[in-house]
Amino acid sequence: MKKFESYGKCYFCKRTFSKKGMTRHLQSCSKRKNILRVVF
Ligand SMILES: [Zn+2]
Repeated sequence: MKKFESYGKCYFCKRTFSKKGMTRHLQSCSKRKNILRVVF
């Protein structure tokens, strides 16, 4: 279960990253950008 605490899942592209990786990923996740474009 500790694995789930130290890792996060990107709900935009459904990939799993470490916390550090997630922070970087969310800034460059192309699918996330696409979703934000749809919202705005
Ligand atoms: Zn992503």
